[in-house]
This record gives sequence, structure tokens and C-alpha cells, in this order.
Amino acid sequence: MDRNKGVYNNLLELVGQTPMVQLNRITEGFPGRYFAKLEMFNPGHSAKDRIALHIVESAEKKGILKPGSTIVETTSGNTGFSLAMIAMVKGYQCKLAVSDKSSVDKIDGLRAMGAEVYVCPANVPADDPRSYYEVAKRIHKETPNSVYINQYFNELNIEAHYETTGPEIWKQTEGKITHLVVASGTGGTISGSAQYLKEQNPNIKILGVDAMGSVLKKFHETGEFDENEIKPYKIEGLGKNLIPTATDFSVIDVYEKVSDKDAAYKAREIIRKEGIFPGYTCGAVMQATQQYAEKGFFDANSVVVVVFPDHGSRYMNKIYSDVWMKEQGFYDSELPQNKPANYV
Ligand code: PMP
Repeated sequence: MDRNKGVYNNLLELVGQTPMVQLNRITEGFPGRYFAKLEMFNPGHSAKDRIALHIVESAEKKGILKPGSTIVETTSGNTGFSLAMIAMVKGYQCKLAVSDKSSVDKIDGLRAMGAEVYVCPANVPADDPRSYYEVAKRIHKETPNSVYINQYFNELNIEAHYETTGPEIWKQTEGKITHLVVASGTGGTISGSAQYLKEQNPNIKILGVDAMGSVLKKFHETGEFDENEIKPYKIEGLGKNLIPTATDFSVIDVYEKVSDKDAAYKAREIIRKEGIFPGYTCGAVMQATQQYAEKGFFDANSVVVVVFPDHGSRYMNKIYSDVWMKEQGFYDSELPQNKPANYV
């Protein structure tokens, strides 16, 4: 079969090589040029396909994963979906401990993709036996022939993006990139891409995106883990209540924090200005880009790449639901409104 003709041996050959598209209207008034790397074009609809495939295939090479083995992971949803998809293609079991902050769509998606899902409380300390970290560890211990992916503390998470996302961005911008704006959760995307890009050109600025209620920005600035920073928030996959070793803080220049409300509004604005149907963290990344622009980070020569991690279809009952937005107190006259349905 010939890949050049668009024919693939299996779905997993479609992971990576995602398109980049120029942003034309949402960035109006910002100096420079802006391009979005559309990770929702991966077959599992998020950037997590990259790390899931890389970690699974590394375990296969080491002989840890064998036919009939079980893949175990903690996940806000996207990594789980990617792992469940890979498990189906390759014939493994998949057991996932997810946070109860994950949208119902995401949990149902994991179940539809054949995974066994354990829903755990989000607002407990990481070492609580009910936390998704502890639940995954217990499942791994109790399940023979299982592999624990451990994305927050697995250096292969960074390596996946160092080997794929970074080089793709360099090639797609023909080496002209000046700034990269990336959401930081495990930190794999930002760290791996940044390591590669800074090797090519150390002047490229790496601009991180963190959530209000997360510890990452403060840790980056002070080297201290400040528990007082931790507050409940709604954006899934962004920020953290612990310090992941899958984040290389040394290659990140600066962090900007965004609010749940601003990120949700911005996601709806992306649709209206660009026609892209973005996930919640795409809104966060775009909001942070605006905040960076307002602080004077960019000039007329800037070539800014923003990474859009996943697809809006996973948030129909969240940021795209007016009912949910009202429940959060996020519904005011400035919210880009959905038109009412006309029943004929
Ligand atoms: N956005 C979404 C929707 C995610 O699921 C994640 C992963 N937690 C991220 C952004 C952040 O990516 P990373 O884990 O590579 O920092």
C-alpha cells in the first residue's frame, strides 16, 4: 500500500503529521503572523495519540507488552481515548482511572472505545487512595501483565514530542518560528517541542499556558511548590496540582495563567472567527496568546505557532452548552451566543 496515495496499513500510521493553518481573524490587531497546529487532526482527535503510541511501542520493543497485556493509565480523557484506540488496533486490554472533572462525553467516549473506566474524585490530594494516581497504581499492581503508562512521570512523553511535534513545527514554518504557545498539563507537548526547537534556534521563545488554580506558573518562577495556588477549576488537561517530571521547566521561558471563563469565551470566538471547532484548552491557548500580545511579547516580525490540543466535539455538554455556561456563571451579554434551534 502506498502512503503517498493516502492508503495506510492501519489507523495508527495516521498519528502525527498534523496540519498547520494560518489564523486570520482571531488575531486581528496583534503584530506578526499566527499559525495553529491542529492536533485534533490526529485519528484519536488529540495530541495525546503521539505519546500514547510512542509509549506503547517503546514497551513493546522492551518486551513489556505482550499479546493479552493490559494498558493502565490515569487520564483526563484524551490520553485514555488514544490508549483505548491503540489497544483496539493492537489487541490489548485498556483500564483507565479518570477524574470526575472529565466531561460525560469523554467518559462515554472511552467506554465506547472499549476501555474499562474508573471515575475518581478530582479534588483530593494526589496521595489519597481515591485519587486517580493511586487508583491506577492499584489496578496496575492487581492486574498481571499490565503496563502503567504514567504520563506525568514518563520521560517518553517528552521524547514523543521531541521526535514528532517539534520537528513538524520547525519544518512547517521553514525554521521561521519565533514563538511557540502551548498548554501545559503533563508538560510533554511544551517540553518536547521546546527542546527540539531550541536546539535548532535558541532564540525561539517558549510561552507556556497554565490555569488559574494550578501550581505550574508559580513553580516555574520560584522553584517552590505552593499549595496555596491550588484551587478547583474547570478546564480539563491544563495545569496541575503537582509538579510533573514530564515537564522540563528549563526550556519554558514564561507562563501565563488563564481563567475558565476567558478560555470558554475564546473557544467560542475561535469558531466564529476561524471556523475551527476547538477543545477547551484551544480557547485557553488563544486567550493566553492574546494576553501575551497585550503584554508586548510580539512584534511585526513574529511568527507565532499556537498548538490546539483537541477537538470541540468532546465539550458539547460543557463550553458549547448554554445551560452549563449559565451554571458556571459564565453567561453574560458578551458570550458568543449559539443561535436557537428552529423547530419546523
Ligand atoms: N489540552 C488537553 C485537552 C489535554 O488533554 C492535555 C493533556 N493533559 C493538554 C492540553 C496538555 O498537554 P500536555 O499534557 O502535553 O502538557
